[in-house]
Amino acid sequence: MEKLPFTKPSIDQHTIDAVVEVLKSGWLASGPNVQRFEAALSEHVGGRPVRVMTSATAALEIALAIAGVGPGDEVITTPMSWCSTSNVILRLGARPIFVDVDLDTRNIDLDAIESRIGPRTRAILPVHFSGLSVDLDRLYEIAHRRGLRVVEDAAHAIGSAWRNRRIGATGDLVCFSFHPNKNITSGEGGAIVCNDAAEAKLVELHRFNGVERIGADGTEVHFPGMKANLSDIAAAIGLGQLRRLDEFNRRRRELANLYFERWPKDSPLRLPARGDDGHSWHMFAPLLPVKTMRFDRAEFIRRMAERGVAVGVHYRAIHLFAAYRRLGFEEGDFPIAERIGRETITLPLFPSMENTDIDRVIQAVHAVLQESGA
Ligand SMILES: *Cc1c(COP(=O)(O)O)cnc(C)c1O
Repeated sequence: MEKLPFTKPSIDQHTIDAVVEVLKSGWLASGPNVQRFEAALSEHVGGRPVRVMTSATAALEIALAIAGVGPGDEVITTPMSWCSTSNVILRLGARPIFVDVDLDTRNIDLDAIESRIGPRTRAILPVHFSGLSVDLDRLYEIAHRRGLRVVEDAAHAIGSAWRNRRIGATGDLVCFSFHPNKNITSGEGGAIVCNDAAEAKLVELHRFNGVERIGADGTEVHFPGMKANLSDIAAAIGLGQLRRLDEFNRRRRELANLYFERWPKDSPLRLPARGDDGHSWHMFAPLLPVKTMRFDRAEFIRRMAERGVAVGVHYRAIHLFAAYRRLGFEEGDFPIAERIGRETITLPLFPSMENTDIDRVIQAVHAVLQESGA
């Protein structure tokens, strides 16, 4: 039987043709396609200015810098995410103040963040985990009252909505990822939704060596910025993908609904929060009953692979990585994130999956689980 990956991008012929056109045009670096991609993304978020770059990691670092985060500052964030969410805080010389998450939504516990705000806190950096939005009303009420900037890690959440408000259409700085595993891709890539033209201009400096071009021959370097501008090749892919975002997310929602509907009622796995129509289902990640299993998660994943079904892990708790333990974080600090980190498995979910693939995955999961004695 054909192997089922846990995710796979859908690249259409139109997009492939557009990339070939860029290659033939002779203009491969940032150019007209980058501008078109930014304009299309801006339209997607209701007209707010958007600037693209090579990754969401670069986007998050630039956004935090623009929000004024620097050495000695603190940023409130989640320990349940891809490591770059908090790596960028360390890279700026600031300290991540982790707040534990909800077991089922995997999102930062907004009730617990206020007690962690101190005199050095500059910003809040939440993740819309798997495309399920955090409560934006609550988040921004706290941020405004306490005078904090917000950088939304929306790497999973392009096309998601909170109460019919699209992610990125409101709020402060919002960062998207176009890594090939995300809901749309540009090969690699990322974007920042900015508040105004002045901020967009700052992003342009940060992503291109701090360089401003002046007139036909002038150059100024305002500060040593990154080199993270997007190529026109990548932007052409992104444009072709953005056109299909709604279709992709609709299909993801359908497939996620099938998982819920067809999942056995007596299954010992714990399903993720179901959310509402604003959920863009970047991934479907239940929790394994590892405590009652005869073998560990790695063996579970190996046996699933034997059955032709790829399983991912998103994510291990960030504070337990060496780079964070070195700062004093340890086991027991954030028990819910740690539990998710131990038990989570990401099952196949991508737009080109067939409905029958859902049954195949559910059957494989429960057959392997039976082997485990759980
Ligand atoms: C993928 C991801 C990132 C980083 O995105 P890149 O474009 O790969 O740099 C950041 N945060 C989260 C939650 C992600 O899933």
